[in-house]
This record gives sequence, structure tokens and C-alpha cells, in this order.
Amino acid sequence: MTTGEKTHFGFGEIETAEKASAVRGIFSSVAGNYDLMNDLMSGGIHRLWKAALIDWIMPRKGQAFLDVAGGTGDVANAIREAQGGRNAAGKVIVADLTQAMLDEGAKRFAGRTDFEWVCANAEELPFEDNQFDVYTISFGLRNVARPEKALAEARRVLKPGGRFFCLEFSHVVIPVFDKIYDSYSFNILPELGGLVANDRDSYQYLVESIRRFPNQTRLEDMMRDAGMKRVEHRNYSGGIAAIHKGVKV
Ligand code: SAM
Repeated sequence: MTTGEKTHFGFGEIETAEKASAVRGIFSSVAGNYDLMNDLMSGGIHRLWKAALIDWIMPRKGQAFLDVAGGTGDVANAIREAQGGRNAAGKVIVADLTQAMLDEGAKRFAGRTDFEWVCANAEELPFEDNQFDVYTISFGLRNVARPEKALAEARRVLKPGGRFFCLEFSHVVIPVFDKIYDSYSFNILPELGGLVANDRDSYQYLVESIRRFPNQTRLEDMMRDAGMKRVEHRNYSGGIAAIHKGVKV
């Protein structure tokens, strides 16, 4: 179905209605190598950023968590560990658009029954209003066709007082470092994707999608427009990544 409405896809453009299936194609293609590539591309630093996310959240036993675009379950697992392990009270749901990513996660955490895997689009979550204490989305929002819809959905499913956290690649705030980072991103990452995962195009898309994503203050504005309060962000690694937090009041 074509509506004429367009959005970006990497540095190119695509019909908004077609973006989800194009993104699903990319992540179906990278799913088998996703965890390895994540470590290789970031030199393992994504683990530190995720640890910073968990530190900021301070998960407590009994809380209900929704990790959207949760992929292979890194954040969900870290939340459970912080809650006190697989037997601690609390609900953790991983929701993701791409079944292949969820399948990799289910394989990786085979036998674990303390979190659930749900195939769903962040723009239309299959959950009732006011269900979750914490909503997380890490390295996911930039792939969503209508991020403003995803933010509205996040607010809808959070309980009053519930907190929203977005960990995402962002914009480098240190002069000169931004040039070095650009050169690494555009010259080395797609080559690495080609060499290791035999999938240069998918990694070229990933780099471009990072550059197209709103900067720190623009994302704060989008969160406020979605009705979130007490919005703030913290930069990591000079702004290569940032965590944004907001509250549903
Ligand atoms: N959160 C995981 C992590 O930090 O390792 C996975 C991040 S991966 C870069 C991005 C994930 O977002 C993929 O698993 C992809 O399927 C998912 N995704 C993309 N668009 C989505 C959407 N509209 N709704 C839900 N998930 C989406």
C-alpha cells in the first residue's frame, strides 16, 4: 500500500509504510551474527553503555519491565540479574519487530522462563495501558518508521510514575573526535560487516541510520511532545551514545 508519506532509510528515502518490513529484512539478515558483530564493532563498549543504563534504572524486585526492540535479550538479561537473578519476582518482556532476532535470543537463553519474547512493532504494542514500571529501548528507536508513535506507545503502556529509557547512538559533542568517529564509521564499519558477516549493505544502513537520528536535544523535545516529563539525557563516550530518560506522570 502506498500512501505517499516518506521517511528516511539510511541516507535514502522509503515509503513510511514499507520501512518496518525493510528494517525487518536487515535484522533478519544480521541476526545470526548480531552479538558477535556488536562486540567487534564497538570493541565491547556497548556492554559498558548497557551497564550504565542498568545503573541508572536501578531495577528492583517485583517491578514490571518492557524492553522494546530488545533483540537477542542483552538488556532483559541484565535487568533480571540486577533484580536478583532468574528467581527474583518481576516481569520482563522483550518485544521486537524481527522474529529472527528473538529466535537468536531464545537460543542464547534457552531454558530461561523468567522473561518472555513477543514479536511486536514499537508503534503498536500489544499491551494494555499502564502496565509497566520501566520501558527500555536500546539501539532501537532510530530504526522505527514513526518514532513519535513509538514514544506515544511507550507513554501509554507505562504506569503513572513509570520511567522511559532510550539508549541510542547519538551525536558526538567533542570537536575533532567527531571527525575521527565519522571516518571509523563510514570507512571501517561497513568493511567489517562485509568481511565478518558478509553483509556490507546492512552495516552501511546501520551507520547511515545513526547519522540520521535526532540529536540529544531534539530527542528530548520529541519526548516532551509525547507527554513525557522530567526529561533528561546523559552522554557516553563523548556522545557516541546517549541515554534519554523521561517519566509518565
Ligand atoms: N536492543 C538490542 C541491543 O541493544 O542489543 C537490539 C538492538 S538492534 C540494533 C535493533 C533492534 O530493533 C532489532 O532487533 C530490530 O528488529 C528492532 N526493531 C527495529 N524496528 C523496530 C520496531 N519498529 N519495533 C520493534 N523493534 C524494532
